[in-house]
Amino acid sequence: MTRLGVLGWPVAHSRSPAMHNAALAALGMSDWRYQRLPVPPHLFAQSTRALGAAGFLGANVTIPHKHAALELADEASPAARAIGAANTLTFRGDGTIAAENTDAPGLIEALGSSPRGMRALVLGAGGSARAVVWALLAEGAREVSIWNRTAARAEALANDLGARAVAHPVAADLLVNCTSVGLEGHSGASGVERSATEDRALNQLGLTGDQVGEYSNVIDLVYHSQPTALLAAAGARGARTVDGLQVLVAQGALSFELWTGRDAPRELMARAARAEEPAPD
Ligand code: NAP
Repeated sequence: MTRLGVLGWPVAHSRSPAMHNAALAALGMSDWRYQRLPVPPHLFAQSTRALGAAGFLGANVTIPHKHAALELADEASPAARAIGAANTLTFRGDGTIAAENTDAPGLIEALGSSPRGMRALVLGAGGSARAVVWALLAEGAREVSIWNRTAARAEALANDLGARAVAHPVAADLLVNCTSVGLEGHSGASGVERSATEDRALNQLGLTGDQVGEYSNVIDLVYHSQPTALLAAAGARGARTVDGLQVLVAQGALSFELWTGRDAPRELMARAARAEEPAPD
């Protein structure tokens, strides 16, 4: 049995096992399994170092361990180092651990076209914003602006990566939400409630619905079974939208290819992540 998994705390709601196990099953890799690895921060280093000997070839890493994963690895790609976080670990036969970051190329893949020459506005200054800002600059975005609720964090991130911090959301070709605003969702609400929830969520991002309409491409890293308030507002005003599950699938597909050397069945992984495909045992 070759094992893969996702390290997180908490990790119970991760869609990665369904997505990766569907891919393994579709490729006839019946002696491979992908599982949840719930590990609290104080046990992260010792648990992760033991995974190779326990039959694990690789692991994805999610909140709150992405920085610790980079620190622990014996080798890291230039992207993981520059971002300061790893979401993909590979346990090698010689006992060493290699770190990669597929969040950054996953974002670009999900965008569907190169951001070269684009002006981008990134909302948020946490871990995911760091990967997104780095990816957009590395792919030739003309200008990357960062707005965050806590302005000092936007300034620190901008200084670190060569972007610019802004006091209010500014005009851009691409808007990427890297905050956790929208996680609560707004499905099932009546029209009036839905619109109030949408306004509240956009307000937390310093935006109105009409302002959202000024961005022709909108990506929301938050994922939900229903469109988030941001994507609902953007879609209603004709923007091209990319949801968090598309980004999740793209980073997962890139990790899968790194570990297995096989082309990842992205469509199937997307259906499994959206729970439209029965999860294999
Ligand atoms: P993080 O490091 O905790 O950062 C959270 C960010 O959200 C900060 O910028 C924070 O601003 C902002 N924020 C939180 N509550 C807010 C509010 N009420 N109003 C305005 N801003 C608020 O989190 P992260 O790792 O970057 O993740 C952010 C989101 O992206 C999460 O929902 C996560 O699930 C999602 N994500 C998705 C993917 C994917 O593959 N689709 C990958 C990674 C992350 P302050 O600095 O002011 O606190």
